[in-house]
Amino acid sequence: MTIDEYSFETRLLHNQHKWDPATGAVSVPIQHASTFHQFDVDTFGKYDYARSSNPTREALEEIIAELEGGVKGFAFSSGMAAISTAFLLLSAGDHVVITEDVYGGTYRMVTEVLSRLGIEYTFVDMTELNEVKQAIQPNTKLLYVETPSNPTLKVTDIRAITQLAKEHNALTFVDNTFLSPALQKPLELGADVVLHSATKFLSGHSDVVAGLAVVKDEALAKRLYFLQNSFGAILGVQDAWLVLRGLKTLHVRLEQSQKSALKLAQFLESHPLVKNVYYPGLETHPQYALQQSQANGPGAVLSFELSDAAALKTFHAHVKIPVFAVSLGGVETILSYPAKMSHAAMPREEREKRGITDGLVRLSVGLENPDDLIKDFNQAFEKVRNNELVLQRGE
Ligand SMILES: *Cc1c(COP(=O)(O)O)cnc(C)c1O
Repeated sequence: MTIDEYSFETRLLHNQHKWDPATGAVSVPIQHASTFHQFDVDTFGKYDYARSSNPTREALEEIIAELEGGVKGFAFSSGMAAISTAFLLLSAGDHVVITEDVYGGTYRMVTEVLSRLGIEYTFVDMTELNEVKQAIQPNTKLLYVETPSNPTLKVTDIRAITQLAKEHNALTFVDNTFLSPALQKPLELGADVVLHSATKFLSGHSDVVAGLAVVKDEALAKRLYFLQNSFGAILGVQDAWLVLRGLKTLHVRLEQSQKSALKLAQFLESHPLVKNVYYPGLETHPQYALQQSQANGPGAVLSFELSDAAALKTFHAHVKIPVFAVSLGGVETILSYPAKMSHAAMPREEREKRGITDGLVRLSVGLENPDDLIKDFNQAFEKVRNNELVLQRGE
């Protein structure tokens, strides 16, 4: 059996970096050197300066490339650094069609930075293929997908989008942060570049900020390498090591969190105080079948909607187990408030059009016993209900 015959979870541990060839160390050595001695004036060694290449970062880049089924991976100092650097493949005068419920930081980058550099954009609901078709212009060079989307978990048909992009000689980027290659492999579905905030599920312990990009084409790999080295937003070696360590448990973490997420979604769906539950693992989700056809699971992030901001405040004041924070994909359950957190950069009107109301809560399910979370939520919902009864009596 060769490495490529191993299943995904085995490859997380037994890949080309399972041990260090020099010492046998069963953990990738952290190489701090910023520069490397050259033994020959005429031919330099593999490494010269650490922005260009560094063995610790390279190990992470090779492993993520292999896990995503690409030819080359790139590690950046944050997810936004990976995304921004990939956008630099575009030039002034180019146009991008981008999913309307894209990550808030990406929205800000496109609307407030790239726009100044002459890169045009159109936001569309990517679940509507016709809208995407209509948005394509002669200068469209990129279709930008995030699926499932944040925070309303809408699912975009990756195969259909990449097909459309190819017909128009455009590239497709997919932000795969929510599912990771454990559940979804965009390159195999036709995408050109996969992007990650490795801050989330890939590292998994809420202790590092990192970004990754993977491409499947050698020519594109050369262009992206040139940009990584030119722009210089590379990942530091300590952080690269933390991502490498997190990756080893990616599969078990996601599998457990996903199981709990489904249980919570079903509980929330049946609760009278919850107006809406957004989770592609529920059969009631409009793209349930599509999600099953392009991914190995719905992931561990879901959102639900309470009646309004007041209900949300009461819920937040009484719920005990989840961390209330931005971010997702950690071992601990993270509750976040998109209107004030991930989508604070988005104008209110734009936000509400996308279903990101003041009562919307996003939940990234961690490794706690799901029954503890359900009990905790139940007691907090009880407080919300009591408050609403008091208000009604007051009227
Ligand atoms: C967090 C996140 C990003 C940005 O990544 P950083 O590591 O915070 O820079 C991009 N896309 C998605 C979907 C995210 O959740």
